[in-house]
Amino acid sequence: MDFSIPEKSLYIDTPVHFDLPRRIDRLGELAYNMWWTWQPDALRLFLQIDRDLWEKTYHNPIAFLKQVSRVQLNAVTQSRHYLENYDRVFSRFDQYCRAEKSWFKETYPSLTNKTIAYFSMEFGLHEILSLYAGGLGVLSGDHLKEASDLGLPLVGVGFLYTEGYFSQRITEDGWQEASPTRLNVEESSIRPIMKEDGTPLTISVELPQRQVKLQVWVVQVGRVPLYLLDSRCPENSPADQNLTARLYSSNPEVRISQEMLLGIGGVRALRALGYSPSVWHMNEGHSAFLALERVRELITQGVEPKKALELVKINNVFTTHTPVPAGNDEFPTWLVDKYFASWWQPLGLTRDEFIELAHCQRHWGDAFSMPVLAIRLSEHCNAVSELHGHVTRKMWHFLWPGRRVDDVPITHITNGIHTSTWLARRLRLLFDRYLGEDWITHLDEPGVMDHINDIPDAELWAVRLHLKRKLVLYALERARQQWIHEGIHPVQVIASGVLLDPYALTIGFARRFAPYKRANLILRDFDRLLSILNKPNMPVQIIFAGKSHPDNEPGKLLIQEVYRAVKKAENGGRLVFLGEYDMNLARYLVQGVDVWLNTPRRPNEASGTSGQKAALNGVLNFSVLDGWWREGYNGFNGWAIGEDADPIDPVIQDDADANDLYNTLENEIIPLYYKERTSNGLPTEWIARMKESIRTLAPQFSTRRMLKEYAQNLYITGLQASK
Ligand SMILES: *Cc1c(COP(=O)(O)O)cnc(C)c1O
Repeated sequence: MDFSIPEKSLYIDTPVHFDLPRRIDRLGELAYNMWWTWQPDALRLFLQIDRDLWEKTYHNPIAFLKQVSRVQLNAVTQSRHYLENYDRVFSRFDQYCRAEKSWFKETYPSLTNKTIAYFSMEFGLHEILSLYAGGLGVLSGDHLKEASDLGLPLVGVGFLYTEGYFSQRITEDGWQEASPTRLNVEESSIRPIMKEDGTPLTISVELPQRQVKLQVWVVQVGRVPLYLLDSRCPENSPADQNLTARLYSSNPEVRISQEMLLGIGGVRALRALGYSPSVWHMNEGHSAFLALERVRELITQGVEPKKALELVKINNVFTTHTPVPAGNDEFPTWLVDKYFASWWQPLGLTRDEFIELAHCQRHWGDAFSMPVLAIRLSEHCNAVSELHGHVTRKMWHFLWPGRRVDDVPITHITNGIHTSTWLARRLRLLFDRYLGEDWITHLDEPGVMDHINDIPDAELWAVRLHLKRKLVLYALERARQQWIHEGIHPVQVIASGVLLDPYALTIGFARRFAPYKRANLILRDFDRLLSILNKPNMPVQIIFAGKSHPDNEPGKLLIQEVYRAVKKAENGGRLVFLGEYDMNLARYLVQGVDVWLNTPRRPNEASGTSGQKAALNGVLNFSVLDGWWREGYNGFNGWAIGEDADPIDPVIQDDADANDLYNTLENEIIPLYYKERTSNGLPTEWIARMKESIRTLAPQFSTRRMLKEYAQNLYITGLQASK
């Protein structure tokens, strides 16, 4: 069942036809809707046919259905248990797609025919679609999934990256090597939009001295379509065909070209598809050129240039995700001159007026800043946590010289995570039993999560142990495969986790290796760390994972520093580095460890979301009071590192934070885990904290709460303003 494209002459082409037994032939349809990724029962319809093949295809249902043997397909058609689940899943799927009831429909019945366009450079929907690099992408993916669940009339716009971000390999000396990955589009759930005459839908964007054509594709995310732009058109030069191949190029010309294709091309694609969005949401500044294209459109329709600028502003929404300079794109003005010379006049502006729209003074000269452009042209701007709100208002205060910092019109909506995507299936089954079948739909309502306290300690603990064992076995198997196939040095096999202990207190640290995240903070006093790891009868192990941008030397040096510590024999194999951090590994980690560690240098972590995923799964956060944790921590649901105050001096701060970290580990976390046990081995105090963590954090830091806030506070202006 495909959603309908407003422009009726267009259709979605499904190139692959599976040869499936009649009784289960709707599996093919399910494979093309990412809905299965957040429905454990739907996922199992694939997995249960052939578990090995499911792993071998890396959870790709299309590759899976193409390769699975007829014998195994026939076998499940004989299983009553399988068929009952099949019928149940499809009855829910059909009900979901019909969308007769949804939060949005019930809250805003008169606005369901509107459209909210959501633009992002990356979307993390699942490990098989390499359209993301990290947290920003995963957040965008979760945003779409929740919009679908809540019934928001939202459509996504992004890129079809055929080479994704990159694949990570660590050399024996700890140096990160990057190689391109390849997305096999034909074996993915991404499908082309076709015109009546059977040719693919394309639009074009002018770059200096040429037109670049973009093909439009779609991937269905529940009820929400995500449209993807792709420059691999034969009419484009080979260099232009590569423009949409990879995420986050360091070449400024590629970067500005990509952002023109996303912003300008995205608007044109939506028009060609027949949409007239009432809200245009720029997730990060990368897509801010969309505002210029909309001004140009209005002027073409006869609107005065000044008026056009005011009009587009009303329904633009801009979200900023980081105070770190690398995340706030800006271009030297000579580059903007080169790429936008043909734009000033149609926009009714002089060159200087155009530059002024996004001007920012830097020590190296005049910059054209994408966040400034987005802020100037958006009615609503928001940061992604309360503290990040303060930081952001200070950062952009110069745009409102007459105002007090607190009056800078940038608000905040704290990030959240999509509960069904990140909650372990075993925990979901347990919660279903004690919180009521429909708890996920109501989790942000008062009292619903209080029933966590009804779950018997032994049951909750058994699931936690199971999840940790699953993580350890997964690491072991990966190490074995590397040992067999990759010709790695034996010490690298140990570094990959072969000495992990499924009963030891396990700490996870996984995220991008950006220097402000201080992955090496816990190594600061290595001897003290060793004594913590190797204490008799109270072992502690730490699993690290994460990538560094291939052109970021400080990030790669950090990985090397961590890897060298991991390789040291004295740690007894209790420090581990797992390569190739992606959504699959993220799931194992946030569900499998006991403690989730985060040590950013305040106030650089705008929000962070991995700790929210951990909290949902009963993993206790142990983090600096930055980003979301500053709002989430209540004294009983995890632990804090350092004070709720900004750093004095980075070196003093690092020492103080490291010292605090060791003290809390030694005096609180480790004793609570090992000493407070009942006669049958249950750490009751620990379990009480786990319950407190799930109860207080799961509702507040869910996309359900987050998206309702976007709808009620930011989207509503544009939705109501449009006719
Ligand atoms: C959730 C997630 C992130 C974000 O992690 P932070 O710790 O919030 O930076 C990054 N990468 C992947 C694969 C994730 O799943």
